Amino acid sequence: MEKAVPPMARQSGAAHPCEAAHVAYRQNYMDLDPTYTDNFGDPLLRLTLDWTDHEKRQKQFLAKHMIDLGKAMGAKVGPVLHGSEDHYWTTYYQSTHVQGGIIMGTSPERSVVNASLQHWQMPNLWITGGCTFPQNESANPTLTILAVTYRAADTFVDHYLKNPGALV
Ligand SMILES: Cc1cc2nc3c(=O)[nH]c(=O)nc-3n(C[C@H](O)[C@H](O)[C@H](O)COP(=O)(O)OP(=O)(O)OC[C@H]3O[C@@H](n4cnc5c(N)ncnc54)[C@H](O)[C@@H]3O)c2cc1C
Repeated sequence: MEKAVPPMARQSGAAHPCEAAHVAYRQNYMDLDPTYTDNFGDPLLRLTLDWTDHEKRQKQFLAKHMIDLGKAMGAKVGPVLHGSEDHYWTTYYQSTHVQGGIIMGTSPERSVVNASLQHWQMPNLWITGGCTFPQNESANPTLTILAVTYRAADTFVDHYLKNPGALV
């Protein structure tokens, strides 16, 4: 007699996510929404973002290698989710490793804060966090956020407090 297989065992499987870096593009940005506001009447943040051919090729490359890897391990490969769509999709889970938006850089023309995380136009404004990363290197940003924050704190104490003003 055939042994009964519990439903969960029949459906068992593993999902293998993979992430890749997402570099900065001039056409991807955030600004104040001209239409939607919060409860106080202030404009909400608006995100303008879409994939380029680079990300589409990146996803196809990664999906192919994940499938090859699964097959090499003897897995029966199921559907590839979120690997071929043409446009960025807010309703799909993307990542909890959001970075960028207030990026650091070497000039006020191309960035918001300098390498010490001091605002280019407002020397007494210092911004820490993953928002200052010029590129999104994917997971996991926390230790780098802390390292850059330590560097900003050192610069603040060692240089800014002694001579407040723009550092570069
Ligand atoms: C479920 C989950 C798992 C994760 N796992 C990992 C991991 O294993 N490794 C890793 O490296 N990273 C991981 N991350 C990502 C990591 O947590 C974030 O990248 C990191 O915490 C971002 O730090 P941050 O300082 O930039 O922002 P946050 O930690 O989000 O800090 C922003 C702060 O600003 C405050 N704030 C927002 N708006 C206002 C306002 N208007 N006024 C005043 N304060 C405000 C918020 O309350 C918050 O305290 C994970 C994230 C999630 C959600």
